[in-house]
Amino acid sequence: MTGKPEMPAKTTPSLKAKLAKLGIRRQFDLVLHLPLRYEDETRLTAIADAREGAPVQVEGTVMESRIAYRPRRQLVCRIEDESGTLYMRFLNFYGSQAKALVPGVRVRAFGEARPGFFGAEMVHPRYRTVAADAPLPEALTPVYPTTAGLAQTALRRLIAQALAECELDETLPADLIEGFALPAFRDAIDALHRPRPGDDARALTGRSHPAWRRMKLEELLAQQLSMRLHYRERKNETAPALAKAGALSAALLKQLPFRLTRAQQRAWAEIEQDLAQAHPMHRLLQGDVGSGKTVVAALAALRSVENGMQAAVMAPTEILAEQHYRKFSEWLTPLGVHLTWLSGSQKKKERTAAAADIASGATRVAVGTHALFQEGIAFESLGLVIVDEQHRFGVEQRLALRAKGMGAGAAGAAAGLEAHQLMMSATPIPRTLSMSYYADLDVSLIDELPPGRKPVTTKLIAAERRDEVLARVREACGAGRQAYWVCPLIEESADAEEAGSAPSRGRKVGRRQAEALQLQNVLDTHARLAAEFPELRVGLVHGRLAGEDKAAVMADFAAGTIQLLVATTVIEVGVDVPNASLMIIEHAERFGLAQLHQLRGRVGRGVDDSVCILLYQKPLGETARARLKVVYETGDGFEIARQDLLLRGPGEYLGVRQSGAPLLRFADLELDVDLLEAARDLAPQLLRNHPEHARRHLARWLAGKSELMKV
Ligand code: ADP
Ligand code: MG
Repeated sequence: MTGKPEMPAKTTPSLKAKLAKLGIRRQFDLVLHLPLRYEDETRLTAIADAREGAPVQVEGTVMESRIAYRPRRQLVCRIEDESGTLYMRFLNFYGSQAKALVPGVRVRAFGEARPGFFGAEMVHPRYRTVAADAPLPEALTPVYPTTAGLAQTALRRLIAQALAECELDETLPADLIEGFALPAFRDAIDALHRPRPGDDARALTGRSHPAWRRMKLEELLAQQLSMRLHYRERKNETAPALAKAGALSAALLKQLPFRLTRAQQRAWAEIEQDLAQAHPMHRLLQGDVGSGKTVVAALAALRSVENGMQAAVMAPTEILAEQHYRKFSEWLTPLGVHLTWLSGSQKKKERTAAAADIASGATRVAVGTHALFQEGIAFESLGLVIVDEQHRFGVEQRLALRAKGMGAGAAGAAAGLEAHQLMMSATPIPRTLSMSYYADLDVSLIDELPPGRKPVTTKLIAAERRDEVLARVREACGAGRQAYWVCPLIEESADAEEAGSAPSRGRKVGRRQAEALQLQNVLDTHARLAAEFPELRVGLVHGRLAGEDKAAVMADFAAGTIQLLVATTVIEVGVDVPNASLMIIEHAERFGLAQLHQLRGRVGRGVDDSVCILLYQKPLGETARARLKVVYETGDGFEIARQDLLLRGPGEYLGVRQSGAPLLRFADLELDVDLLEAARDLAPQLLRNHPEHARRHLARWLAGKSELMKV
């Protein structure tokens, strides 16, 4: 085995808890707990030369030490060397410290000197008492990320012990990584934890140091291996082979008022081929807002029906699910396919009836929210699950879907079958992410919009010019077009779980309060706009409306009886009303990049030229300005996603920051693309030619957590 699986036997529960906070659960994790930075304690600086700007080490004799009470209780200790005097000041201290720092004692203090009230001072320096002429350390001192109650010295001791006790042999065969000119694993670990005399702190901290690169390659390889193994496991599972191309999908294509774009055809061909296999498909269908993923999903659902099995279509919000239901009804009902609607807000009686149809097999295609996969719902024989806007589902749900897959209904399960899965996303996943966190999925890309789409003109307008905007709304609606008025987000405090919005300023409140404020805001805005435009029908939709009320408003808007729709971000995903050609987003500076792009994608779907107005409140913060600039300058979903990733970092971007799912710790996907590509190429060779090495590498790096390195 590589490394001891557990902590040393004498580790106390309280120490264990502190280590766990740092993600350290087994002794080997200590080996992988790398320094944040290094301090140079190999040299002494004369007190007179200690200046603001850089931490230094000084040594002197304690001349005086006292507890002062003004401006607050503190320990003040004056030390002296031949060149001058320095005060060490501690606002938090133990009695034992005060006792030890008595006149005559020699101390070495490490910190940044500042001009202070009493003269030069160091506030909370690290210090130790030393014997006269005690030798200086010969190498840099590592500084580790730590947590309250766990001192650097204690952590250093534990790490030194781990380095001595854990097995640090190579897990990668030499010939595999020969070409990279990187140090051996043990040497890389050693270089980082135990710098040698003469090593330069800047080089070691800079993550381009060969030792760092070795660690990054190791980590990325572990991720690639786990993804590939996961991918392989799926090929060992069986799914119903949906190979028969019947009359239904052909009939749908014939009945559509448009032809599939080349990109849609390509995506459908890839899906079609996967569905025909006797192994579960896990495919991500990616395509920008408005690229036409729904019709591809409908074709896939019909393929399942043609092969005598059911299909389920699941969407993250009621509005979106409802819209799919309408679209699917329009397309599939004429073909005689029995469709069933299921959602959490349905009346009990309807729900029971829907569940019964799903269980008996009367239902061929079920459409709904995640209620489709809650207790009490059992499919008769499920061939395919379609998950729209999969990134909008919670991390837990996403992981569960990807890890466990889904039974193929009562009949299928009896035969040990899994259903195929088609996931759809309008948030394009940047290349580096799809190569890493999503590497276990197959991806189809719709990289072309249907013909005749006109780009949406985006305008940035400061809130004080709101009157001009109102005039525009009046004009557009007067001319028979329709408009959305999107109300601002209220920022939730950081402990609220919902990711995906990265508002810049404004109030930070709890989720419940944010929802209440949001609701009040949308009600006020609606009242104001209704008063402003007595000649228009102004509708209102928000998350608190009952499902059927929401559906009724959306249906009125789709039918054109509502001209101006005041909405919260419930309309963000998937809503499709081609006659709506104007969108106003209030307090656009509070929205995340992906959100703005998604919202803007609600217009530009019809024949009219479309405009999206981003109303913003001055002054703009730096990131808010950066976000608005990106949305203003580009309509390309991929570019926007890439910028979003850069601005927010992968944890936020993927919405897993608070989920506890471990992300890559050492590698940086943007900066280390070369290593990411290398790992991607090496992983299959390792698995094929050196399976035992691969196993050991995974054990060392993931230790049973392999399921978590994806999102
Ligand atoms: P999204 O990929 O964002 O889910 P939709 O599937 O909602 O996009 O499609 C957006 C609109 O484009 C819908 O009105 C749909 O009917 C229409 N559409 C889809 N494919 C085509 C096509 N090939 N030609 C013309 N219109 C299309
Ligand atoms: Mg859609």
